[in-house]
Amino acid sequence: VETTLSIIKPNAVAKNVVGKICDRFEQAGLQIVAARMLHLSREQATAFYAEHQGKGFFEELVGFMTSGPAMVMVLKGEDAIARNREIMGATNPAEAAPGTLRADFADSFTENAVHGSDAPATAEREIGFFFPEGIC
Ligand code: ATP
Ligand code: MG
Repeated sequence: VETTLSIIKPNAVAKNVVGKICDRFEQAGLQIVAARMLHLSREQATAFYAEHQGKGFFEELVGFMTSGPAMVMVLKGEDAIARNREIMGATNPAEAAPGTLRADFADSFTENAVHGSDAPATAEREIGFFFPEGIC
C-alpha cells in the first residue's frame, strides 16, 4: 500500500469541482487520509516546484499556484502513485485521455487542475512538505 500527494489546484477549486475530483479518487479505491485547504505563498510554491526553476513556464506556474486556495491531500491505496497519475491523465490536457481529471477539468497546460507525486521518493518529500506533522 502506497501514499501519494495530490493537489487540487486553484483553477479547480475556483470551479467548485473539489467534490467531483475527490469522488473520482474514492471511486477508484484511493482513500483520502489527510486533507487541508491552503493558499500557497510565493515561497511555498517556489520551494515545492524547485526542480522547475529557470524553465520558461516557471513564473506562470508560481503565479497560478498562488492565485487562490488549493486543496492538498494524501491519497492511500494499492499503487496509489501510478493509479493517481492514471486518474489525472497527461500533464498537457490536450493529450489527456477522455475521462481523466485533466481532460475534464483543466483550463490550460499550466492550469491543469491537479498535481500528483510522480515516484515514491517524490511522494515522501511532497507529503512531508505539506504535512510535516505526519498523517493519522
Ligand atoms: P504535476 O507535477 O503538477 O503533477 P506533472 O508532474 O505531470 O505535473 P511537471 O512536468 O512536473 O508535470 O510540471 C509541473 C506543472 O507545471 C504541470 O502540472 C503544469 O501545471 C506546469 N507545466 C509543466 N510543463 C508546462 C509547459 N510546458 N507549459 C506550461 N505549464 C507547464
Ligand atoms: Mg511533476
